[in-house]
Amino acid sequence: MKTADIMGVRFHAVTLNEAVDCAMNRIHIKKKGYIVTPNPEIVYLTLDDPFFRSLINGAALVLPDGIGIIYAARILGQALYGRVTGIDFADLLMHRMAQEQLRLFLLGAKPGVAEQAAENLQKKHPGLIISGCRDGYFKDAQEAVNAVNAAGGAEVVFVCLGAPKQEQFMAEWADKLDATLLCGLGGSLDVFAGTVKRAPAVFSKLGLEWLYRLYKEPWRFRRMLKLPLFLLLAIRQRVFSKRKEGSS
Ligand code: UDP
Repeated sequence: MKTADIMGVRFHAVTLNEAVDCAMNRIHIKKKGYIVTPNPEIVYLTLDDPFFRSLINGAALVLPDGIGIIYAARILGQALYGRVTGIDFADLLMHRMAQEQLRLFLLGAKPGVAEQAAENLQKKHPGLIISGCRDGYFKDAQEAVNAVNAAGGAEVVFVCLGAPKQEQFMAEWADKLDATLLCGLGGSLDVFAGTVKRAPAVFSKLGLEWLYRLYKEPWRFRRMLKLPLFLLLAIRQRVFSKRKEGSS
């Protein structure tokens, strides 16, 4: 599979369909692993944290979530097909899982959110089996592992604890979980439960989902400042590598 290096993070150059095919294939052959969907904020976090970066790069699939990653790829001359957001990936994966009546466990978000998401998702994807839910505010990760395993396990677990908690959890506990595939999906359960609305299609078409999110959740302002910083870093990296090429 082709990859693109964005500031040390190795993204897979796949379309949404290819990403879901790859996930389904791993489920069929029972190959354990985890999937991550980094946005610019997460790549930014990896810059000062090589351990976190190694967790991201250790994933079976690293999907570019966010227009900022695509802009950075263009600036750095790296090939990515386009955005594959966590929500779109999860949605198509559940559609395919429902056709085969596969099991999904929902882990994360505030108490009650995963249950509401489960109700909505079961209506949207008849055939999908939600084997269980657990909120993301556990004291000890073992509690979460026990919840998944006590529910009889699942082919897929959506791990929605925010970064870097979800990536640490997936890397550390994958072997102990009775599940094939773990997907780190940030705030997706809030969207599936309807507590947070996704941007209208026109915003995502224009690559302005971040603007909608800022309007809805203005307290994200400080976190979002990382987006322009991230693009400036990409430009700087490009300029330096050009200079290096020129001098060698
Ligand atoms: N969360 C959680 N456990 C924690 C911290 C956060 O389950 O200890 C949940 C939080 O309730 C939210 C999600 O993780 O549902 C993180 O959402 P955020 O929007 O910050 O993530 P993003 O999509 O931006 O990565």
